[in-house]
Amino acid sequence: MKVRHVQKRKIGVIGLGVMGKPMAMNILKAGYPLTVWNRTRSKMDDLLAAGASGAESPKEVAEKSEVVITIVTDSPDVEEVVLGPQGVIHGAHPGLVVIDMSTISPTVARKVAEELGKKGVKMLDAPVSGGDVGAKQGTLSIMVGGPEETFKECLPILEVMGKRITYMGPNGMGQTAKLCNQVICALNIQAVCEGLMLGAKAGLNLKKLLGVVTAGAAGSWMLSNLGPKMTERDFRPGFKIRHQQKDLRLVLSFAAELGLPLPGTALVQQMLRAVEAEGLGEKGTQAAVVAMEKLAGRKLTE
Ligand code: NAP
Repeated sequence: MKVRHVQKRKIGVIGLGVMGKPMAMNILKAGYPLTVWNRTRSKMDDLLAAGASGAESPKEVAEKSEVVITIVTDSPDVEEVVLGPQGVIHGAHPGLVVIDMSTISPTVARKVAEELGKKGVKMLDAPVSGGDVGAKQGTLSIMVGGPEETFKECLPILEVMGKRITYMGPNGMGQTAKLCNQVICALNIQAVCEGLMLGAKAGLNLKKLLGVVTAGAAGSWMLSNLGPKMTERDFRPGFKIRHQQKDLRLVLSFAAELGLPLPGTALVQQMLRAVEAEGLGEKGTQAAVVAMEKLAGRKLTE
């Protein structure tokens, strides 16, 4: 019997930050030929040492790849690496697919897809949830918008990075799902801060409190992952406050377009602004507890 070797598609990854680097590493480990580019070149070193090729620009990544993944910060950053003077679009060739996994505006995702479409390039918006832990373990939740055929073709690649991968509809719907996700996450962080502070003020042992409530109906990703970090004052990111604020800005402006009030989300945005005012914007979202501490007039653990 003949064994058919299916050639793995050539992948490019643009953006090797907290999320992009481990996601790229998982692609490499799964045996895909990989080309990487990062604005700050030193962040490419680990990937190059592990066997990836480097490129001089996003354009060159596109030229060398069949599927280009972008995971940068915000809407203008995706526009820059995809549509800018040295962008992916200038390396377009037949069959190229772009998967943007950053969290950006649904409107901008649609615009980028449309511009790429003019060059015959298909695009998926495929933002992720699950944090740096999910990125390292390859267990992210991935919500995907774009042409369904392209989604099906790219599913094996997405499966290297994620566990729950869901097709949400046409371009922009992946980002829309992610904004819903961010509303739920933001309010959940605030809930963890308030619950723990009540316990602290009333003299409970916070370790015991975390243990028992995590096992009950209050259990959540935020509580399990960020609760212990709050009590240990480990504010290393994770997901940066600055990025959470970017996402809440996207949420609130999208909700405004829809004429939808989101009072809880607006409150959390203001709480996080207070944390930013303390100079902690680059810290992880667990540093939200600092705003609660200011209100409470005490530290969580003293
Ligand atoms: P990060 O660690 O700050 O990394 C951001 C990356 O984007 C860096 O590689 C940065 O390059 C690059 N970048 C930003 N603007 C750029 C531009 N204009 N041109 C070229 N490169 C640019 O952020 P992250 O935590 O990995 O987050 C990446 C995306 O995933 C964001 O949209 C975030 O909202 C989303 N996300 C993050 C998490 C999380 O837990 N961290 C979870 C889900 C989703 P430099 O190295 O040169 O700065």
